Amino acid sequence: MITDLVQIRRLEHQKRAENARFRAYLKSHRHSDRRLRRFGEEIEAEIDCTQCANCCRVTEVGINQRDVEKLAKFIGVSEREFADQFTARDAAGARILKRNESGCVFLEGNLCSVYEARPQNCANFPHVVRGTGSISSRMWQFLDRAAYCPIIYNWMEKVKEDIGFP
Ligand code: SF4
Ligand code: SF4
Repeated sequence: MITDLVQIRRLEHQKRAENARFRAYLKSHRHSDRRLRRFGEEIEAEIDCTQCANCCRVTEVGINQRDVEKLAKFIGVSEREFADQFTARDAAGARILKRNESGCVFLEGNLCSVYEARPQNCANFPHVVRGTGSISSRMWQFLDRAAYCPIIYNWMEKVKEDIGFP
């Protein structure tokens, strides 16, 4: 299991073309989504996200109205105040959590300060075990995440091995 973030970034860079081929390979070869999700569960169980928190540093977190309601209540402010203080718009105009130089505005060290009320996107991340739609239809997301998320990097390598990717 590789968890070093620098090593993962370097390896993903080396394997970028291979991973793109793997995406196409997975689409055209029979596999069980349930089995691939189970690999995700096994790898999640072996990785301590509180030692990593890299997704909170590097990604923009899209949020919906339900997330706003939950977070505003948790923090003890009105929804309007929450939106003003803690949200922003991404390049496409969608609502996201505000970020600072360390990443998400709610990240403290390696921990989430609003963990109990974190957005659904965060609770589901990295979306292998908890994600809607088939794995192969969402592989484009995983190719990107393999560069910064140890769960996804290791999961993809495990799936390649299991499926017999040449
Ligand atoms: S809300 Fe919490 S879990 Fe989500 S990105 Fe921010 S710090 Fe991470
Ligand atoms: S989900 Fe991935 S990137 Fe986020 S903390 Fe866990 S291992 Fe790190």
